[in-house]
Amino acid sequence: MTEPLAPGSIVGILGGGQLGRMLALAAARMGLRAHVFDPVPGGPAQQVCDAATIAGWGDTDALARFAAAVDVITFEFENIPTEALDLLEAHRPIRPVRPGRRALAVSQDRLTEKTFLQDLGLATAPFADVTTQGDLDRALARIGAPAILKTRRFGYDGKGQVRLRPGDDAHAALADLDGAPAILEGFVDFTHEVSVIGARGLDGAVACFDPGENLHRDGILHTTTVPARLSASQRTDAILLTAQILNALEYVGVLGVELFVTAQGLIVNEIAPRVHNSGHWTQNACAVDQFEQHVRAVAGWPLGDGARHADAVMENLIGADADGWPALAAERNTAVHLYGKLEARAGRKMGHVTRVTPLR
Ligand code: AMP
Repeated sequence: MTEPLAPGSIVGILGGGQLGRMLALAAARMGLRAHVFDPVPGGPAQQVCDAATIAGWGDTDALARFAAAVDVITFEFENIPTEALDLLEAHRPIRPVRPGRRALAVSQDRLTEKTFLQDLGLATAPFADVTTQGDLDRALARIGAPAILKTRRFGYDGKGQVRLRPGDDAHAALADLDGAPAILEGFVDFTHEVSVIGARGLDGAVACFDPGENLHRDGILHTTTVPARLSASQRTDAILLTAQILNALEYVGVLGVELFVTAQGLIVNEIAPRVHNSGHWTQNACAVDQFEQHVRAVAGWPLGDGARHADAVMENLIGADADGWPALAAERNTAVHLYGKLEARAGRKMGHVTRVTPLR
C-alpha cells in the first residue's frame, strides 16, 4: 500500500474530452493538479487543466515527457493504443497507470469482455466469435435471429453494429464491417436498461452508486433517471455483480456496468473502465460524485460512500440542444453543465443538465 497523493500532486489524464474535463475539475477541488494528454488542441479538458501535452498517441517522446511530469496516470476513454500504454507502463511503479492494463484489455474487445463476464458466472447475451462467413452461418444457426453483429473493437454509442432480423442478408452485413473481427450477439428482450457506477480503491474497498435507468435516442444516451425501476433484490444483484467485476479485475478507479433488465433477471451488456455518461447525475445528487470518486481511487485516497441525497434525472444536451442553455439555467433545481466544445455538430455531446428532487 502506497501513500495517498498529497494535494499539489499531479494527476495525468489520457484523453481530453468532457470526461477528462470533469475529472480535472474534481482533481482541482481536491487540491490536486491535472495534466491532460490529448491529440486534439483546444479540447474540453485542456481549458480547465494545469498543463496539457498536445501530441499524437504515436509520439513516444511526448508520452515519455508526459509520464515524467505526473504522479499517477489515468484515462478518460478505453481505446488508448496498446503501444502508448506499454510506453507509459514502463514508468511504473513510481507513476502507476490506474486502472491497470487488464481492465483495458478486457473492455477493449467485446469477445474478451463477454468471455470474462461469462467466466465470472454472470449472465450475458449468447455470443459467438465471427470472422468469416462460415463463422457467421454457424453462429446464426446456434443463436438465431434477431441478433446483433458488432465489431469486437472500437464500438461506442451504437457504432459498428448491425441488427440482423430473420431473412436479412447476413453476409452483406458482415461484408460492411470490412473484415473487422466481430461477434454475433443474441438479441436480448429487455424491458429497460440500467447501469451501475462502481469504484474500487487502492485498499480494495468498493463503493457503488445507486443504479440509474438509461434511455437512449438514436443510439446515444438521452437520460439517466435515479432511482431506476428495480426491485430491491435486482438492485442488490446489480450492485453485487459490479463489486464482483471490480474485484476480479483488481480494479482501481471508477467503472460503469451496463445491464439489461429482463423477466429472467439482469444481463450484463458491457463494462466501461472509466467514469461514465450515465454517472453524471452523481455530480448533483451525491456528496462525492463519480469524478471525485475516480480521482480519490487513483490517488490512493479513501473512497466516498456513494450515498445519494436526491432523486435525479440527467439529460444529455446533444448538438443544438445546448443552445437552450438560457432557458435551462432559469429552471429550478437544475444544474447546467457545458463542456466548452467550440463546434456543435449533430450527435455531439455538448453538455448535460441534471434535475434534482431532494429526498423527502
Ligand atoms: P452497446 O454498444 O453494446 O452498448 O449497444 C448499444 C445499444 O444497443 C444498447 O444500449 C442496447 O440498447 C442495444 N443493444 C446492444 N446489444 C444488444 C443485445 N444483445 N440485445 C438487445 N439490444 C442490444
